[in-house]
Amino acid sequence: MIDCNVLIIGSGLAGLSAAVRLRELGVEDVVVIERMSGTQYEHYHRTCGEAISDKMIRLSGIGRECAIREIDSAVITCGDVDIRVRSKGAIIDRVALLRAMSSIGGANIVRGSVRAVKETDGGYIVETEGQQYRCRFLVGADGAFSVVRKNLFGYGPEVKMAAVNNLVEGDSETSEIRFTVSPQYPGSYRWDFPSKDGLRSIGYIQGTDDLQDYSERGIRFIVTGTNRHVVNGNCCIVGDAALLANPLCYGGIGVALLSGRKAAEGIARGDLSGYQKWVRKSIMFDPHYMKAYNTFKEWNQSEFDDAVVPFRKSSSLLLMRGAYAILRRPKWANVYTSIWMGFKYCW
Ligand SMILES: Cc1cc2nc3c(=O)[nH]c(=O)nc-3n(C[C@H](O)[C@H](O)[C@H](O)COP(=O)(O)OP(=O)(O)OC[C@H]3O[C@@H](n4cnc5c(N)ncnc54)[C@H](O)[C@@H]3O)c2cc1C
Repeated sequence: MIDCNVLIIGSGLAGLSAAVRLRELGVEDVVVIERMSGTQYEHYHRTCGEAISDKMIRLSGIGRECAIREIDSAVITCGDVDIRVRSKGAIIDRVALLRAMSSIGGANIVRGSVRAVKETDGGYIVETEGQQYRCRFLVGADGAFSVVRKNLFGYGPEVKMAAVNNLVEGDSETSEIRFTVSPQYPGSYRWDFPSKDGLRSIGYIQGTDDLQDYSERGIRFIVTGTNRHVVNGNCCIVGDAALLANPLCYGGIGVALLSGRKAAEGIARGDLSGYQKWVRKSIMFDPHYMKAYNTFKEWNQSEFDDAVVPFRKSSSLLLMRGAYAILRRPKWANVYTSIWMGFKYCW
């Protein structure tokens, strides 16, 4: 049995962000357990569009050293219409960021795959193959299929989608991230982001498309939900383990980093209730995004055609046309505002 003060399960962005913040706040005796290593770990963490907004970079304190491309707008393509949302951010080299965070985190990172977690008197017992850990504070940063969420919180994701990310050769100089929406990608989209070394990152939900010409491919789950119960005694879940990614834009990097920090600040105070309150109140985790996702995922071709009418260049009376579209289908007001807010606050 290994005893420690704080045990973090998962050395992804959420887990390492918590470790770095704990270090900054002078909390000692922190152990991080990670199931993957080497190329497997890097491949898993490269399977991502890697886009994060400037605001999230600033709030999460990661610095711009890991930024490999500057982004100035998101473009949503629907048929022959391009809708441009001004939103500044960057594409990051996530593997380099994780490496930098693990070297400054000061935590003891050990290899192991956590199988079970249980509460005991005044703490938690965590089991890997052949090893047991006992801790006072437990942080579940173990991603989409979190053992901590399952064992100590008892709920699962409302949305679970296998996403395919392809790195392909092409122009990586653009400062736009592109999203193509149509009934082909129900409740989702095809993304096309610049990446590094002359590559682009093109992805979609498995089964909606099939790109053949790629240099590297990874498949990983995107999960999200609206259950905002993230603290249970001295245990909390962060990042994907807490289902915090946005269901419309899939922004999960920034919220993983931020939630790790907020949880660490609660641990340093000896009280996680502030972290729970932050998650419940934040505009980033509002249930309206999920409502909008549920409306959006049902759209057929004619609804897509109608939805973009206000954004056509030929549309001289944009506001009036938008108001008319919403009057005809009131539920769409939430889709428009949630997509706009998603790009403003949640990536
Ligand atoms: C294809 C794809 C594209 C995406 N694109 C973007 C994007 O452009 N922008 C954006 O903001 N978000 C994007 N996301 C979402 C974002 O990648 C995630 O929300 C983010 O990675 C969550 O970080 P995390 O640290 O919570 O979890 P993870 O990155 O999943 O890290 C969890 C860590 O825990 C470890 N672990 C898991 N279980 C155990 C266990 N039992 N024992 C020990 N260790 C364990 C894992 O090995 C892993 O290292 C994308 C997601 C996908 C799948």
